[in-house]
Amino acid sequence: MTLTLVGPADGAALGTVPETTPEEVAAHARDAQAVFDSGVWSGLPPRDRAAALLRLADLMDRDAETLAMLDCEDAGKPITECRENDVPGAVETIRWFAEALDKTYGRVSTTSRDVLAFTEREPYGVVAAILPWNYPLAMAAWKIGPALAAGNCLLVKPADATPRSVQHVAALAREAGIPDGVLRVLTGTGPITGAALAADPVVGAISVTGSARTGRAVLAAAAASNLKRVSLELGGKSPQIVLDDGLAFGDRLVDGLVEAAFLTSGQNCTAGSRVLVHASIHDEVVSRLVAAARALRVGHPADPATRLGPVIHDAAADRILAAVRDAVAAGAVLATGRGEADVHAGGRYLEPTVLVDVPADAAILRTEVFGPVVTVQRFTTRDEAVALANDVDHGLAASVWTTRLDDALAVARGVHAGVVSVGAYSEGDLTVPFGGWKESGFGGVEKSLAAFEQRTRVKTVWVQLGPR
Ligand code: NAD
Repeated sequence: MTLTLVGPADGAALGTVPETTPEEVAAHARDAQAVFDSGVWSGLPPRDRAAALLRLADLMDRDAETLAMLDCEDAGKPITECRENDVPGAVETIRWFAEALDKTYGRVSTTSRDVLAFTEREPYGVVAAILPWNYPLAMAAWKIGPALAAGNCLLVKPADATPRSVQHVAALAREAGIPDGVLRVLTGTGPITGAALAADPVVGAISVTGSARTGRAVLAAAAASNLKRVSLELGGKSPQIVLDDGLAFGDRLVDGLVEAAFLTSGQNCTAGSRVLVHASIHDEVVSRLVAAARALRVGHPADPATRLGPVIHDAAADRILAAVRDAVAAGAVLATGRGEADVHAGGRYLEPTVLVDVPADAAILRTEVFGPVVTVQRFTTRDEAVALANDVDHGLAASVWTTRLDDALAVARGVHAGVVSVGAYSEGDLTVPFGGWKESGFGGVEKSLAAFEQRTRVKTVWVQLGPR
């Protein structure tokens, strides 16, 4: 079977890719294990592995425009976002892990003098990654960097709709001299190809970025197969908490709220889709947010001036608009956005939408909308803000907007989320771990040396010394 790729911008046919069958997945996993066992990659001196990965990063840099266009076409992401965020971020990710790989150390334990005991981290052998469609290249880099740096062979399943940038990286990996079979891209759908990877007995660890539904399915498949290690990066419902002095940030506040809410048309795991604002500045923040949202240009993703492209497909547009309709029916007020999609040549384009006066029990306050929709709620005390922030099943990210350090830290420590930024909407750079809590995942499983740990396992060596 083949999958037909359809561009979200205008319904253009972008080609086809094969659906990798369960039998083919099993064969790839076995072959990858043989490549691992041969030592052509895992046995290389670390400096040589680093050099190959650095060459890959350079080649991605060389082909930056191609990679940006592929994500723009496949995912409908604005080309400016692809050029300025996703591609440079992916290059940087591969470089960071290449540079880090020979700067990790094992440990010698404190034992009695007749023993030498040490621990080191070893690669699993074959590991897998399942990717979402919204950051095809960036998420691929988060998985490829640490997996290959640690010496594993990696099987990557891109999202059904967005395989082409990842396929291009695999071609560049060959050009960089990374041996054949170390990085394999297995295209296909979740229930067929993804499910086969999750259940494969050779795959030692699997890292998933996607929805909670997929996370549950992969956990169940891992439990029923070889108890492979599972790392989950799932959805979010992240709060942007603006305390009573939040306006002191000036434009930075509104820019942050807008970026949080509308980056990639809100189809972003860390989307700051809930603004929680102190009652004393609620109306002012709403008016600035609405003005900034209305100024965002919605249009064809290949236009460099576009800030919001189309949503990924018709079903997504219908889901997002239904969530807005339900919120309005429950009593919420549309401060901006019409609650309708504009259809251009087959693509569905939604305006930035701000909902205010949302009733406390409205479903939209707890459901990931995954579209350009933000709700605004008011609070009067810091504790109330934290309680509202935590009143969801997700716990991916949060932002706190206050200039008072004690309040910022109290909120940061009180919020149940894996990543909290203060005075910014940010996921941090590669030096800090990334990951969500609660139904957003397992916390701190991507980026930084934490990502190495997900793709390696501890070996303890206990050497009894003394007379034979
Ligand atoms: P999705 O769960 O529908 O798909 C993600 C991937 O899982 C795809 O490759 C899909 O084919 C695969 N998949 C689906 N069912 C599967 C199964 N039964 N077994 C194995 N694989 C399966 O999610 P999506 O629509 O591509 O992405 C949107 C979701 O991803 C949102 O919830 C978003 O918040 C989340 N996301 C999270 C992060 C993060 O870092 N936390 C980043 C980006 C996206």
